[in-house]
Amino acid sequence: MEAVSIVIAGGGLSGLYAAYRLERHGVRDVLLLEARPALGGRIASLAAASTNDRFDLGPTWYWPEFQPELHCLLDELELARFVQPDAGDLMVERMAGQAPARVAGYPGMPVSMRVAGGMAAVIDALHSRLTRTRIVLGRPLRRVRSTEDGLELDVGGGAGGIESLHAGHLLLAMPPRLAAETVEFQPALPQALERSWRDAPTWMAAHAKYLAVYRRPFWRSLGLSGGARSALGPLVEIHDASNPAGGAALFGFFGVPAQVRRSVPESAWRARCRAQLVRLFGPDAAVPEIDAIRDWAADPFTATAADCDGHGSHGSHQSAAPPAAAESGPWRGRLTGIGSEWSPRFPGYVAGAVEAADRGVAALVENLG
Ligand SMILES: Cc1cc2nc3c(=O)[nH]c(=O)nc-3n(C[C@H](O)[C@H](O)[C@H](O)COP(=O)(O)OP(=O)(O)OC[C@H]3O[C@@H](n4cnc5c(N)ncnc54)[C@H](O)[C@@H]3O)c2cc1C
Repeated sequence: MEAVSIVIAGGGLSGLYAAYRLERHGVRDVLLLEARPALGGRIASLAAASTNDRFDLGPTWYWPEFQPELHCLLDELELARFVQPDAGDLMVERMAGQAPARVAGYPGMPVSMRVAGGMAAVIDALHSRLTRTRIVLGRPLRRVRSTEDGLELDVGGGAGGIESLHAGHLLLAMPPRLAAETVEFQPALPQALERSWRDAPTWMAAHAKYLAVYRRPFWRSLGLSGGARSALGPLVEIHDASNPAGGAALFGFFGVPAQVRRSVPESAWRARCRAQLVRLFGPDAAVPEIDAIRDWAADPFTATAADCDGHGSHGSHQSAAPPAAAESGPWRGRLTGIGSEWSPRFPGYVAGAVEAADRGVAALVENLG
């Protein structure tokens, strides 16, 4: 059986950042398992061939005023940033049969910042700096056994079916609820710990984004910010998603619950979203160069059934992070949760993935002596 010191399960931001920190601490023999065929997790983007640009389908913003550690990491990774464009009026749809109203826009407070090239630039920057971590894609962790001399991990997805590995420590770089529901722990995790993981909603897992890329930001010449709020939908909150030096785009969050989204074909939702953008921003919105929907609730490596039970409102958030490790028993010192939802200060956010991974790596490095 192959043996490694540390396995990181999950190749989203928390997993890649943990690998980056471990390398900085000189830790060798790290294997990162990612279930999907690509890295990034909830950080995903749509590429527009015409402008060579990427547009976020997952996270878009961070807030440097209260997330200074993330701001410093972006400095360290030499990534350019810009303020979310919001100059111009906001469109508001209140009820059917009534024309949308145009109201004065307002600057976002605190200031929302974006990464040039989209959040995926953070994933690329971390990945390109990893020199020793072994990364395998398309390999979901299925089962972990805690034994006298370490951990035995069963990993799926390979040509030969399930493969087993021996590891000293496991960093779970995925949402706690997903870990509790999709990874089998032998023996079972302590009951209270397991319950706290299952009870932690995966932030934004129930949501879906619509994105439309245009040749030019035509709404700006109309004095509009590209922002809108709607009580009619299907999109409830719309923003300018353009890149400063590149393509123009709008994105919106669906206000329709996951179960309802599932019952209508994607092509029909796209047509409804385009029609809504025409109502709000005029006829130029009818013909995007490309448009796409990313429904996170339909993604088995993000959402579970429990995440999709919500009513579809955008922005509901967990209040407190669950414990990241067992305090006693066979799992003590063997397993640490480092996905964003384990972050005490920013659970569910991009900054949370960095904080949770930092804490997990610091504890691990201290134990390794
Ligand atoms: C639509 C949307 C909008 C958002 N907007 C914002 C925003 O504007 N600002 C902000 O701060 N945050 C936002 N977020 C949240 C942000 O995306 C997350 O906090 C962050 O990306 C979490 O990173 P992570 O590494 O902890 O988890 P994830 O990105 O979920 O990564 C987990 C990884 O683990 C993998 N995995 C799952 N199961 C297994 C397994 N069994 N074995 C191996 N690998 C596995 C997954 O494939 C995935 O790659 C948004 C999220 C969504 C979906």
